[in-house]
Amino acid sequence: MPSSERTPVSVGGQLYVVATPIGNLEDLTERARQVLAKADLVAAEDTRHSGRLLNHLGLNKQMLALHDHNERARVNQILEALSQGQSVALVSDAGTPLISDPGYILVREARAAGYQVSPVPGACALVAALSAAGLPTDQFLFAGFLPAKRAGRKAALESFKRQPATLVFYESPHRICDFMEDLIEVLGPERECVLGRELTKTFETFYAGTAAKVFADLQADPHGSKGEFVVMVRGSDEAPGAEAAVDADKLLAMLVKELPVKKAARIVSDVCGLGKNELYQRALVLKGG
Ligand code: SAM
Repeated sequence: MPSSERTPVSVGGQLYVVATPIGNLEDLTERARQVLAKADLVAAEDTRHSGRLLNHLGLNKQMLALHDHNERARVNQILEALSQGQSVALVSDAGTPLISDPGYILVREARAAGYQVSPVPGACALVAALSAAGLPTDQFLFAGFLPAKRAGRKAALESFKRQPATLVFYESPHRICDFMEDLIEVLGPERECVLGRELTKTFETFYAGTAAKVFADLQADPHGSKGEFVVMVRGSDEAPGAEAAVDADKLLAMLVKELPVKKAARIVSDVCGLGKNELYQRALVLKGG
């Protein structure tokens, strides 16, 4: 049997979540092509956009538009197709569906209804960007698109200030400069940052360095604010709540066993930044106990 016939592509009553390229058509996997070829129905974020991909593959498929504004209504239609044993492929405009793209409600409901939901992995901008950025990848926090308005965006950045994991954001070309300004203001100009632009495309560019340098390089580049962006930021070196990591009471209890009460209270006050008098009273109690 030729090896291609052994590729497990099951037909009928199954939902496939199919990743498509993020710019370079050659990044479509062979399995994605097979699943699309066998699908009875292709649910696409934008049928015209995905129609061009199917056209490129020489496929003529029944398509259904499924986007943020009609997903709930479309789910029943797709569940109906699944109930008839049809094979449905979910695609978005680019990359992996559900990653800052529609499909969550469909996948959740298809699973709840007992249908098999299978991923057909492939391109995803955040993974592509992280894989080549040179930032730590042992832990990362993908925050997608932050709020479009400045106040909301700054509040979100503030909440990540002490996050030790590498931060990953998506941003659109018309907001990238505002985003970088806010990032510098909230996380500081020295925070290490890597910006991936137009990944896998002709004008793929990585800007790396401190946030201030990345922003300056972006502004100096005549094509800088064009294209699609993944912003990656090195996590904080400061552990979350580092100042509270020392348990003042425990330290005091240990010290009063070895030192005079006054001295123990002073040391704990210096280490934890707490009031000397209060610690002294507490130390007296601990010593007495
Ligand atoms: N589902 C997609 C994925 O798997 O990455 C993401 C879809 S989201 C609506 C689009 C955003 O992804 C863009 O605004 C940009 O931040 C990022 N993106 C997509 N393609 C990209 C590329 N080729 N280079 C850089 N960023 C890209």
